[in-house]
Amino acid sequence: MAVDTLNPRSWLYPTPRGLYCKPGDFYVDPAVAVPRAVITHGHGDHARPGHHSALATPETLAIMRARFEDMPDTDQQPLKYGESVRVGEVDVRFAPAGHILGSAQAVLAYKGQRIVVSGDFKRRPDATCPPFEPVPCDVFITEATFGLPVFRHGDPAAEIARLVGSTTLFPERAHLVGAYALGKAQRLLALLRQAGYDRPIYLHGAWGTFEALLDDAIAASVPVIDAAGAVLDASDRDVAAARAALARVLPPGTIDPDGLDVDVDAPFRVALQPAA
Ligand SMILES: [Zn+2]
Repeated sequence: MAVDTLNPRSWLYPTPRGLYCKPGDFYVDPAVAVPRAVITHGHGDHARPGHHSALATPETLAIMRARFEDMPDTDQQPLKYGESVRVGEVDVRFAPAGHILGSAQAVLAYKGQRIVVSGDFKRRPDATCPPFEPVPCDVFITEATFGLPVFRHGDPAAEIARLVGSTTLFPERAHLVGAYALGKAQRLLALLRQAGYDRPIYLHGAWGTFEALLDDAIAASVPVIDAAGAVLDASDRDVAAARAALARVLPPGTIDPDGLDVDVDAPFRVALQPAA
């Protein structure tokens, strides 16, 4: 079939299980467990447990191992950014998506046609992952939860300056920041350190799920923690101190709707500047 008559929908199309690539016999970010999955990144609405085989960046596979108990049962196929692998009749490679550690756009090539499935992506700088890379393609498939004009996000540096300024203005007050444990929390930590905030930052226990990643994947690929602070186990005294801390990073669900109380019994971890 000539390229100009190849209908992209004939080889990549939505199904109830997810986006299916017929000549490769795989799904991209499937909604349920499938025989063969290509995963764009580790967030729960894209990476799910139970696949027979999963093709993803090494960082995304590390995140999935941290999240899913059954990952040893999955045939894990790491593919670094820029490398290519043939799956069925389709060439698959990953390009950085700039969203979280390991996040990738799936670049699929078949019979001279190229489709990019972006997954979640972000074009603003993020110290915790490589920047978004535009990839020329015939078809671009994306999702844009916050792409509507109604969503307007402030400049990250200005927002961080507001937060740090407030801790100076109100040193006796605890400052609570809601941030997802995977991705946003690490980015926030990096932004605070980049802004010169060198005080301890108390992290909610949900961070612990990704503790191994902090030690391994993150430290290896983007040294956020090595460069900005060491993560230490919090003692009882640290937990007591966290109640009066100047800045705390918490998953949104742990903050009381009134915004005045938090689950103080949850374990905290403390990010400190490394010893010189
Ligand atoms: Zn995501």
